[in-house]
Amino acid sequence: MTIRGIQPWRRLTGLAEAVIIIGLPFLRINGESALRFDIPTLRLHLFGISLWMDEFYTVLIATIFVATLFIFLTIMFGRIWCGWVCPQTVLSDMTSFIERDRGPLSCLLLFMISTLVAANLIWYFVSPYDFFPLLIRGELARVTWIFWSVLTIIIFLNLLLLRYRFCATICPYARLQGTLFDDRTLVIAFDEQRRNECMGCMACVRVCPVGIDIRDGLAVECTACARCIDRCAEMMGQRDRGSLINYSFGLPGRKGGLVRQNIILIGSVTLIFFAYLIYLLLSRPLVDMTVLPNPTFQSGPLAERKMLNSYILSIRNRSKDDVELTLKARGLNGRIEMRPEGLIRIRAEEVKRIPVYIKASGVSARHVDVEISIESMDHKMRARKRIRVMVR
Ligand code: SF4
Ligand code: SF4
Repeated sequence: MTIRGIQPWRRLTGLAEAVIIIGLPFLRINGESALRFDIPTLRLHLFGISLWMDEFYTVLIATIFVATLFIFLTIMFGRIWCGWVCPQTVLSDMTSFIERDRGPLSCLLLFMISTLVAANLIWYFVSPYDFFPLLIRGELARVTWIFWSVLTIIIFLNLLLLRYRFCATICPYARLQGTLFDDRTLVIAFDEQRRNECMGCMACVRVCPVGIDIRDGLAVECTACARCIDRCAEMMGQRDRGSLINYSFGLPGRKGGLVRQNIILIGSVTLIFFAYLIYLLLSRPLVDMTVLPNPTFQSGPLAERKMLNSYILSIRNRSKDDVELTLKARGLNGRIEMRPEGLIRIRAEEVKRIPVYIKASGVSARHVDVEISIESMDHKMRARKRIRVMVR
């Protein structure tokens, strides 16, 4: 079997993307959704890693990496995202039946698709393994119902009324792309050198979802759907000639290599952020500790000429397993005592708050540095904090 033209490949890509986007919330890695932001715990589950709110620096780096990657891909491959993978384009392609028939049945089918797409978006926040049981028992939260309804209406109206017009008029990324293109970016263009071969059949204009004439030159409205390439190939095929419209790096006939200064620069920045992101993900500590003064305890002198200080330790176990950690305090050449000390047990993903009391004495200074540490038996999980305690 031979596949003719570009459109079957685009449809196949769109279908694969739909399967991935719908399926991803159902995929579980380490007992959690492969990709989901859990609102109650403010945690991002990212392919087996659970990022806590205080680790959102990593998410920031990931966002910068994705942004630079997009800039790199846009300079190199132009509107490849819009034409092949943008959900707006993929959904518009998949619901093209509504352009041929606007009857009640088509509208109902479009509404059902919109409902599924809206639910799919919600599954990235509420796990489908919670969503469906709650839905069946009639216990889905009111706020979830509101979001689901509003999203469904927005998606339905978008697919019914806006469709590709969204790309041509509203989408900010489409506007931004024009500023990123250079003379060797991949574009879909009419071959001016073969203009005299054009039959003037207008097939390329009729098939264009945004109604532009590619023969007039590149247009910001073009979504790079490549339909005009296939249509022109069909028409020109009747004369045993190839399509007058094609993908080309820069306008057809333009010479020059693909590696250029801006590509090297933005490619390097993208690689640096990618490497840094990988480093952050691989080196993230699984246990974390904060030490704050105990607000319910007033530090003060004891009868035995010692000063009693109190702090609250917040120890967070980010791993999926219960752990045993050794809690210790060091400082003042061993002349400090901390209670409690020794083994503490913290359940998986638990944040344990432990009040500790530190006695210190024997130096002329009013304050000394003390190091509080926690460490697992195998030394793989550890955290340290240095604090200043009062001395008598
Ligand atoms: S000009 Fe061609 S590639 Fe661009 S939107 Fe129209 S049909 Fe699609
Ligand atoms: S489909 Fe090809 S031959 Fe027909 S008008 Fe467009 S560019 Fe010319």
